[in-house]
Amino acid sequence: MTILFLALTLMLSIISTASAAVYQQGVVSVIYETEGETAYQNPVDLNKNGVPDVVEDIATQINATRELFHDVFSYPDPLDSARYKNVHAIEVDIDSKKNMKVSGLAYNGVRNKSRHDPKVRALHVKIANTVDPRKNATPEHEYFHLIQYGATYFTNKWYLEGMARWSQDAVSKNKKYPDGRNVSWTLKNKLSETQIFQGKYNVAGILWYPLAVNLKDKAKVPKALRNKYKYVDGSDVFHDNIVYGANVMLEVLQTMKSKEEFAGEQFGGVKQWRRKGQRAAQNNKIILDCVREVYEKHSAKK
Ligand SMILES: [Zn+2]
Repeated sequence: MTILFLALTLMLSIISTASAAVYQQGVVSVIYETEGETAYQNPVDLNKNGVPDVVEDIATQINATRELFHDVFSYPDPLDSARYKNVHAIEVDIDSKKNMKVSGLAYNGVRNKSRHDPKVRALHVKIANTVDPRKNATPEHEYFHLIQYGATYFTNKWYLEGMARWSQDAVSKNKKYPDGRNVSWTLKNKLSETQIFQGKYNVAGILWYPLAVNLKDKAKVPKALRNKYKYVDGSDVFHDNIVYGANVMLEVLQTMKSKEEFAGEQFGGVKQWRRKGQRAAQNNKIILDCVREVYEKHSAKK
């Protein structure tokens, strides 16, 4: 099954790279078709460099996210992580929305022979050819998944998607922040616990945003970074200078990392857990307990 899948993937990638173009910006390579169904339809090229502006803008949004989260907020870089040793690139494949059904996907496996350079190993995401980074935080969202994969092996949906949705605030302004008053109730209440565990993107609104606001965690986007990152048309990647919750989320990720051995106990060890238990139902309570731990630590200080 695996071998068949590999052979098929290899064949498909050879076929599809035949007419594909590569745009490279730092460690990010965007691979896109110039014609056919998976290409961007009628792309604008304001700077007339032969690369569709959307393609450049995707790379720009990802590099801006990398610099903000790694260099400013000190999130671990997946390219420096123990999990992804000797992986040095990020690849973005552009595919048709029709094929994908969703706007973006992020893979936790490594591409051993990357498409832009078979000697380089890469992490990879896929973005639909309908995504415009100026209006849409999908590249940021998918890249944040790579940050999550590098930080911890836990992949329960409510955590993975809820926190990635929260992170989008870095590049697309959330105008409706909750007041955060419900957090202590949410963390104690059985009913909201069930709602969280069954949730996905909506957990950003139930838990992650309120947590950030409640703990008064305001992280600053430096002016130099705001000036540095612009889309091809000159518009801003960062819409304002505040990201709520960047420090708290990092602490949650670090606490989760420290609980992997514990999560592995029921699987006969952390190695087996990393292979088979990343999304186990038992993780739900462990992850939420990490949130409780971080919350209690900070509320005790107040
Ligand atoms: Zn996602």
